[in-house]
Amino acid sequence: MKPKAPFRPLIGAHMSISGGAALAIDRALSVEATAMQIFVKNNMQWFAPGPFSDAEVSAFTQHPRRGELRSIFGHSGYLINLAAANPDFAEKSRRALREELLRADQLGLPFLVLHPGAHMGEGEAVGLAKIVAGLDEVFAAIPKVKTKVALETTAGQGSSIGHTFEELAWIIAHCQTPERLCVCLDTAHVFAAGYDISTQAGARETFEKFDQVIGLQRLVAVHCNDSKVGLGSHVDRHEHLGKGKIGLAPFQFLMQDPRFAAIPKVLETPKGKEMAEDRVNLALLRNFSE
Ligand SMILES: [Zn+2]
Ligand SMILES: [Zn+2]
Repeated sequence: MKPKAPFRPLIGAHMSISGGAALAIDRALSVEATAMQIFVKNNMQWFAPGPFSDAEVSAFTQHPRRGELRSIFGHSGYLINLAAANPDFAEKSRRALREELLRADQLGLPFLVLHPGAHMGEGEAVGLAKIVAGLDEVFAAIPKVKTKVALETTAGQGSSIGHTFEELAWIIAHCQTPERLCVCLDTAHVFAAGYDISTQAGARETFEKFDQVIGLQRLVAVHCNDSKVGLGSHVDRHEHLGKGKIGLAPFQFLMQDPRFAAIPKVLETPKGKEMAEDRVNLALLRNFSE
């Protein structure tokens, strides 16, 4: 009998696709990740010049070590705002999301993380309705795309929507194709939004609330970030694990509760060229699982 492979927790980090999406795989493996998040195009621009070429797709999907990453998913561009008040931005946002979903689907990514949107002063009700209309239009235009949209919990900075579980649940409930939606929880964002996950008990309570309002079956990823800013500050500033206002309690909770074993936990913390910071943060997570 073959000896059982040692248990490797499903953890990783956001990785750059600079030089080609396939290179992100090498970067993730260099920090011993088993999961990663990537942008599917240059994040500074509205649109990619076109879909991925066949060569780019096969370099990624046929990468000899692709299988060592058990979860790879996308994050959409930061310019996208489905709730934009400016009609030109709203239109660009829908087109950009549609094209990014097509590119994510080319790479076989199961979901693309999306910040729901910011209402820009029009109010949450108007913003929520625009987000639902935008998602419906985008999904209807690409019926064959399998990549889902993972709505991300936000810090509630400015007029951004999605800082309560109820808002995300509302979007899912009103979308015509709720089966194409799932959720990504960002620890720094929920803390800044006012959910106190800084203790094990608080983390447990927050995930219970998530389960009641959205349902844990919708949770597909967790962004593991500490926060430079305090509870309820509604500001989005990521910090290395254990170095911010949250501390390590929720990360220990997530790594040890078996309900989250199959959920990829991915860092979005600052890093230098050599990514030594990712190794440190991932070692912290890994130690909690041993
Ligand atoms: Zn995000
Ligand atoms: Zn995040």
